[in-house]
Amino acid sequence: MSKIIYNSHIHTFRDVDVPRKFLPLGIIRLLASNFGANMFTRALNNINPFSNNDLLDRYVKFIKTGKIDSQQKILENCQKFYPKDTRFAILPMDMAFMGAGRVPRDYEKQLDELAEMKKNHPTTILPFVHIDPRRPNYDLLFKKYIEEHGFRGLKLYPPLGIFPYDERLYPIYEYCEKNKLPVISHCSPYNAVHFKGKKKEFKKLIALSKTPIDTKGKSRTKICAHFSDPTNFKYVMKDFPNLKISVAHFGSGYFWKEYLEQPGNKNNWLNVIKDMLEEYPNFYTDISFTMSDTSYFSLLKILMSDDKINHKILFGSDYYMVETETDERRFGMDLRAFLGEELFFKLANENPRVFLNCD
Ligand SMILES: [Zn+2]
Repeated sequence: MSKIIYNSHIHTFRDVDVPRKFLPLGIIRLLASNFGANMFTRALNNINPFSNNDLLDRYVKFIKTGKIDSQQKILENCQKFYPKDTRFAILPMDMAFMGAGRVPRDYEKQLDELAEMKKNHPTTILPFVHIDPRRPNYDLLFKKYIEEHGFRGLKLYPPLGIFPYDERLYPIYEYCEKNKLPVISHCSPYNAVHFKGKKKEFKKLIALSKTPIDTKGKSRTKICAHFSDPTNFKYVMKDFPNLKISVAHFGSGYFWKEYLEQPGNKNNWLNVIKDMLEEYPNFYTDISFTMSDTSYFSLLKILMSDDKINHKILFGSDYYMVETETDERRFGMDLRAFLGEELFFKLANENPRVFLNCD
């Protein structure tokens, strides 16, 4: 019997959905648009003697994917690595309020394109709605795509400048809890994609923190990690105990690396998330992006053998962000072969089916 695979974390947004100062897309897009992606690689190959490694090729592939002129075609590039009936949770991005400049295409156009894909492929596509509560009428927008277009849940991206316990999100949480819609939140520290706006505005955003933040001498990247801190969700789960929430990336490669060196650090987000998986019945995590590094496979296998948490870990890849590190094959094939069919299908079928509320 074949079981359906659920990839619960991919992206198909296009370069027109990305503001100019978004990194790394921004810089690269600028170069690519002036000289063409191939010229850019050739030029860098000549400058950089270490460019024989495939890092540049990967970046070029990443740029080229973003430049593809339809989200459907971007999805099809990802689908190649999976069995035909695989289902994909697609996470859009609203980057209009991160202070990184104008986004060429209106956010609703990005969602409309996903809605059209959902109409044509109702079972394989599970689109989410990214909500940034700084957008006017975000609540109406959310309901519209859920009710009229069959979108499947809420996406959050805290480092753009929003704490998950922001009260403007409460009506959305209430609606999601009532309608059994899951929440997927980006969750990694020191992310290049974060609030890029003015200092004065940034100060105001930080002032909304429930815990004091020491900003002295710290970079914007470091400070923005506070938005993503998984413990922020403890406030949300206290108020919405039946809301399903997944923090993406399971603490991220940064903390997996640290864990392998010093497993005992209680502040390591991998440990923090592990404890929260045990404590909160509707708290989940996914392994997207993080498993681009095969040296973490063994630890994942051990965690997937732990009955206290192994029903709360979701398969996801973070296509096509992960193209900067590896091929999608790493997720669709290498990881499956490493874990074996039983654990893989727990990760990629049983767990996501419960989380995504699919039959
Ligand atoms: Zn992602």
